[in-house]
Amino acid sequence: MSAPAVTVVAGEAIARYGFGAGHPFGPDRHEHFLRELGAQGLEAAVHWAAPRMASVEELTSFHTRSFVDFVKERSVRGEGFLDGGDTPAFKGVFEAAGSVVGATLVAVEALMSGEATRAFVPIAGLHHASRAGAAGFCVFSDCGVAVERLRSQYGVRRIAYVDIDAHHGDGMFYAFEDDAELVFADIHEDGSYLYPGTGTRAETGRGEAQGRKLNIPLPPGAGDAAFHAAWAEVEAFLERFPSEFILFQCGADSVAGDPITHLQFTAAAHAHAARRLCAIADGHGHGRVLGMGGGGYNRQNIARAWTGVVRSFLAREP
Ligand SMILES: [Zn+2]
Repeated sequence: MSAPAVTVVAGEAIARYGFGAGHPFGPDRHEHFLRELGAQGLEAAVHWAAPRMASVEELTSFHTRSFVDFVKERSVRGEGFLDGGDTPAFKGVFEAAGSVVGATLVAVEALMSGEATRAFVPIAGLHHASRAGAAGFCVFSDCGVAVERLRSQYGVRRIAYVDIDAHHGDGMFYAFEDDAELVFADIHEDGSYLYPGTGTRAETGRGEAQGRKLNIPLPPGAGDAAFHAAWAEVEAFLERFPSEFILFQCGADSVAGDPITHLQFTAAAHAHAARRLCAIADGHGHGRVLGMGGGGYNRQNIARAWTGVVRSFLAREP
C-alpha cells in the first residue's frame, strides 16, 4: 500500500496571524513548525499548498454579517479589542484571519478533490470564535466555516470534530450543540482551572443532538496515561457515529511545559491521536482527516507535536 498523500497548507498570509512579537500567539509559531518539519526531513514528503483569502460569502456561511463587518472596520484602524479584552485588533487582522479560514478551505478542497487523503494547516483550528464574535485569540472560526462549506458545497453531512487542545472548543461546541450530524469529541483541561471554563461531562448536546457530543475534562497535571484512557473513550464514541470527514484540532498547549495551561501530555499523544483518526477515517471508507494546529504557546512543543501529526498522516497502514 502506498503512503497517503498529505497536503500541508502554509505561507506568509497565515504566518501573519498573530498578536505581535512576544505575545503567546505570536507570528513566529508558523516558522517554528516549518523548521522542525524540515529538520525531520519531511519537507519533500508532503505536497505544499498556499493559503488564500476566504470570501465574505464563505465567512458568513458561519459568522454573522455584522461581526464580519466589525472585524473589517477594526482591521483598518488597527486598535482596540475584537472581544472583551483577550483578542486585540491589529492592522490587517481581517486579511490575516480571513486567510486562516481560506487556508483551511484549501485543505478541504484538497481532500474533497481526492488530491490528498490527509491535510494539515499549522495556523488554524481557531475554536473559540463564535458565530457572532471573536474570543480567546480566535477571530474567525476556520473550523466552523469548514463544516458549513463541507455541507453546502460538497453535501457532506456527517462530520466528526475532534479536539485535544488544552482549552475546551467552546466556539465549535455551542455553534453546533443541537446539530445531530456534527459529532463532537473534546479532551481538555477542566474548565474550573482554565479558560473558557466550559466543557463539563454533562454537556452532551441538545435536542436531537443529545449524546452526540463528548466532553472529557481532565484535571491539571494529567499526563499521557490520562490522555490514553480518555482517547479510548473518544475512539469508541467515534465508532458509534460514523462520519464522512474528520476535523482534528491538535492544539499543542496540552503538552507539558506550555506557559498558559497545566496539562502534561507528551507530543506522542498528538501523534497517536492522528494515527488513530486516520485508521478510523479509513475504516469508515473515506480516509479524510484535516489537522488544524490550534493553540500551543511553547514553541518547541508546537514544532514537535504538529510535526508528529504530519508524520502520522504520512504513515502507511500497518
Ligand atoms: Zn488552547
